[in-house]
Amino acid sequence: KNQSTVSITVVGASGDLAKKKIFPALFALYYEGCLPEHFTIFGYARSKMTDAELRDMVSRTLTCRIDKRANCNEKMEEFLKRCFYHSGQYDSQEHFVALDKKLKEHEGGRLSNRLFYLSIPPNIFVDAVKCASSSASSVNGWTRVIVEKPFGRDSKTSAALTKSLKQYLEEDQIFRSVLRFSNLIFEPLWSRQYIRNVQFIFSEDFGTEGRGGYFDNYGIIRDIMQNHLLQILALFAMETPVSLDAEDIRNEKVKVLRSMRPIQLEDVVIGQYKGQTTGGVTYPGYTDDKTVPKDSLTPTFAAAALFIDNARWDGVPFLMKAGKALNTRSAEIRVQFRHVPGNLYNRNSGTDLDQTTNELVIRVQPDEAIYLKINNKVPGLGMRLDRSNLNLLYSARYSKEIPDAYERLLLDAIEGERRLFIRSDELNAAWALFTPLLKEIEEKKTIPEFYPYGSRGPVGAHYLAAKHKVQWGDLSLES
Ligand code: NAP
Repeated sequence: KNQSTVSITVVGASGDLAKKKIFPALFALYYEGCLPEHFTIFGYARSKMTDAELRDMVSRTLTCRIDKRANCNEKMEEFLKRCFYHSGQYDSQEHFVALDKKLKEHEGGRLSNRLFYLSIPPNIFVDAVKCASSSASSVNGWTRVIVEKPFGRDSKTSAALTKSLKQYLEEDQIFRSVLRFSNLIFEPLWSRQYIRNVQFIFSEDFGTEGRGGYFDNYGIIRDIMQNHLLQILALFAMETPVSLDAEDIRNEKVKVLRSMRPIQLEDVVIGQYKGQTTGGVTYPGYTDDKTVPKDSLTPTFAAAALFIDNARWDGVPFLMKAGKALNTRSAEIRVQFRHVPGNLYNRNSGTDLDQTTNELVIRVQPDEAIYLKINNKVPGLGMRLDRSNLNLLYSARYSKEIPDAYERLLLDAIEGERRLFIRSDELNAAWALFTPLLKEIEEKKTIPEFYPYGSRGPVGAHYLAAKHKVQWGDLSLES
């Protein structure tokens, strides 16, 4: 085993994602001893840079978040010594041949495995894959490619991208990074018998902040819902897989996606944030972002009600909500349970929209936790109901920090663990669900509901939930 080596090439190494996420994640993996003994990291991009310049660039973003005191600086030095840079075009076989030559030198005749992380704009994915696969593949080990989202804009473009990639790669070489909430363990034990509704919520408390160019092309539905939230939903709602093998899990996920009811526009609310001045501070609206067209209708917020037409989930609303420039930053799943029949304390509410639903909350951001919100009787004269949270804070329980999603992603790709990557047929099913909706919104030029920066989002989202006789869990008062 010591005789094998892994070479990781970050394609687009001069970019933002590489700097901010990929190199720091690689360092963390190295620090934690998760990388093989023999490994080499190459940055590849068109920009001219020396190895020293790359190291300098990378060193600025490395942090010693794991162990602040100990030998971190030493480890950083060791890590940086194993980082190299090669400048070249993304569509040049010749330049990839030159990269291959350098990789071989570092691999020193060992069994070599190669991982390419494509951190470049999607329109050059295929060029880079073509060159990497024909000129810089491993000859005796595996060659894998991590592809960053977006994977197309709709069914058609996604299928075309998949088709092109498959000219050069087998399905099992493609790692499409989609699930950023990778620390969750799902128990498919749930059903309509106990569960009244499930909510998948993703909110950011900042806007595009001058980087809206990429986003404006996609919008929040493509950026968050169609991939992240839908993946979590599928994992949550799937039947128990035959085994925990990646293929079995993915088979169950595809089944869930395929049994989902087409999404109706009337079950969707879209919004866009507008400028807001509070306490003397002015927060810009979405279209104030210089990289966004003034008349953009791109949604920065969306809420949707989805349904799975199978025996387990018949009639249970699955609500999704995702937005930028909201009042909080969070990512969570909320499972609201049905009432216990004849609940004594529940008589006054007189409506289904009561405040007293027991909820299981699986929170991924900002601090990972799983807690149960229980409505229990407060001792005293009144029959007042209160909530207590049975809180399990991951960080309190486990001293070791939860790995960043990019660490998990890289490690899984190196180890060939496919559970959290999306397979072509899953991707097709996910697009099939959202493409008609996206087309309708874009063709009708649906005007988003405007909401102030830093608010709870458009009021329409409440009406949507109410229509399905539920209430967003993240809006009720939390202790
Ligand atoms: P980026 O900085 O725009 O691009 C990465 C590198 O690609 C650049 O440094 C540049 O390197 C090269 N490049 C840029 N535009 C190009 C063009 N038109 N033709 C050829 N090369 C070009 O992108 P990024 O923010 O690092 O993101 C990388 C990938 O991840 C993209 O696919 C993006 O959609 C995706 N993504 C990013 C984020 C994020 O937080 N940044 C989040 C989700 C997904 P050279 O000029 O040196 O060749």
